[in-house]
Amino acid sequence: MRDFTQNHEWLSINTATVRKQRGVEVPLDRIIDQCAERGIRAISPWRDQVAAVGLDKVAAQLRAHGMGLSGYCRGGFFPAPDAAGLKAALDDNRRAIDEAKTLNAPCLVLVVGALPGALDGKAAYTDIARARSEVRDGIAASLDYAREVGMPLAIEPLHPMQAADRACINTLEHALDVCDELDPGQSGLLGVALDIYHVWWDPKLQQQIARAGKERLLAYHVCDWLTPTRDLLSDRGMMGDGIVELKKIRGWVEAAGFDGFSEVEIFSMLDWWKRDGGDVLDICVERHKRAV
Ligand code: ZN
Repeated sequence: MRDFTQNHEWLSINTATVRKQRGVEVPLDRIIDQCAERGIRAISPWRDQVAAVGLDKVAAQLRAHGMGLSGYCRGGFFPAPDAAGLKAALDDNRRAIDEAKTLNAPCLVLVVGALPGALDGKAAYTDIARARSEVRDGIAASLDYAREVGMPLAIEPLHPMQAADRACINTLEHALDVCDELDPGQSGLLGVALDIYHVWWDPKLQQQIARAGKERLLAYHVCDWLTPTRDLLSDRGMMGDGIVELKKIRGWVEAAGFDGFSEVEIFSMLDWWKRDGGDVLDICVERHKRAV
């Protein structure tokens, strides 16, 4: 297992971690500079943040800093109530793949979607099996394009509490089943983004990480699970403040062959988004050494 205590060369920052400080949206170019000032070598930005600054401008800024990506957030949200909606989702995923390519991302992260409309409070239908079938077809179609341009797709299984509105793939096992069906040859173009917030509780976690292996483990997201968790979406903890055995899980991931970044992804309306972004990044660096 790699020694993270001496430096933070394998730290990446998911830029949602420091984007809404004290109620103010921090532009991505500012976040990139803040990371560069701290010697952070990689980030994972969100599409809307990139669009707000400009895709080419962000690509140039990353090049100037010699900064890479650990992933690009995000594609997915495949299910829709009708054919036009399904096609619009595929078109949007194609654009996301193109953007990921421009930014030299190692993968496009997929939050696959669930019951269409549920996120806005009104599901267009309630058949989760149908949603899962549309997700499967959407990933298959997107994978065809991803193969053409050479952009790996990383399915992120989400905690089952988000099965209705954000993702109907909820375990690592389910994500790997989809990978094995659509990409039996393990081409390296379809795998998973493993986010400990979503999967830490899974009794099959160690077994499924071993099954995934290096070919399927495309991204690794860290934070912590607080007790109590006061908000299911936006009360993620800083590494070391919760109950997740981060070092043990990283040991499993590395034993399976993963040797990439640990990407810190903390949605925290109730704590970390209330602080100065630079201070949060300093603490991420420190905790990455001590707790990850
Ligand atoms: Zn994640």
